[in-house]
Amino acid sequence: MKFEGRIALVTGASRGIGKSTALKLASEGANVAVHYAKSADKAKAVCEQLRALGRNAISVQADVADRDAVNRMVTQVTGELGPIELLVNNAGDVGSVPFSELTPEHWDRIIAVNLTGSFNVLWAVKPGMIARRFGRIVNVASIAALAVRPDQMPYAAAKAGVISLTKSCCGALAPHNIRVNAVAPGAIATDMLGEVTPAFAEHLRSTTPLGRLGEPEEMANVIAFLLSEESSYMTGATVIASGGRILMP
Ligand code: NAP
Repeated sequence: MKFEGRIALVTGASRGIGKSTALKLASEGANVAVHYAKSADKAKAVCEQLRALGRNAISVQADVADRDAVNRMVTQVTGELGPIELLVNNAGDVGSVPFSELTPEHWDRIIAVNLTGSFNVLWAVKPGMIARRFGRIVNVASIAALAVRPDQMPYAAAKAGVISLTKSCCGALAPHNIRVNAVAPGAIATDMLGEVTPAFAEHLRSTTPLGRLGEPEEMANVIAFLLSEESSYMTGATVIASGGRILMP
């Protein structure tokens, strides 16, 4: 098993890509902290699934935009599961809003969740990884970072920031045997896609060269690869996993 006995923290693991990733890591031997913001029952149910695989699992709550809450959460995971070796910075909120209705307050919030939130978790986990000279981090970006998205302006900007954060952290943390990579998903069939109109969802599907939406399990496979030693010479990379949909409108 690729992650036998490793301790993983997956943010936003109550649903969608994070849930599939938690299941994938546990199926490969990891003990997993299942993080959530509001969906306590869903996170607990994911933990039950992980325990049924024979792994240790705990659910932990924090708004990733709240630095103190994130620090408390990381302390809790370390105390109850052990030092975090694998981090998946997956929690996110697309916050789509027509450009004409965008407010500075909405901008601040979406940047805080998607960009500063990723920084907050990474920053809280980093000292333990440095002390142990081992860490594998995957940040979940989006092809929105590469595209024209007037109705997702703060989200797209935040995800571009996540790609840049990944590159800078790669350089800063490589000397400590910490690899940092990112995945940029295309349109994936999760609750997040439920936030867009049916017409836009159909547009996403029909403009994807593979002709379908991605499944969260397909993103979990890429994330597990980037966390594993199969990607041992990769750091600072952003893997686009989009069914071929990159810069199409
Ligand atoms: P999802 O099904 O909507 O799940 C979002 C997860 O993030 C949930 O676990 C949610 O927790 C958590 N979360 C949301 N806001 C949070 C906050 N402020 N603090 C802490 N946790 C928070 O989303 P998904 O589609 O799986 O997306 C996962 C990641 O992939 C995100 O970073 C997203 O931007 C990225 N992505 C998704 C797509 C797509 O098409 N689905 C495409 C590109 C990139 P609760 O359940 O407790 O609310």
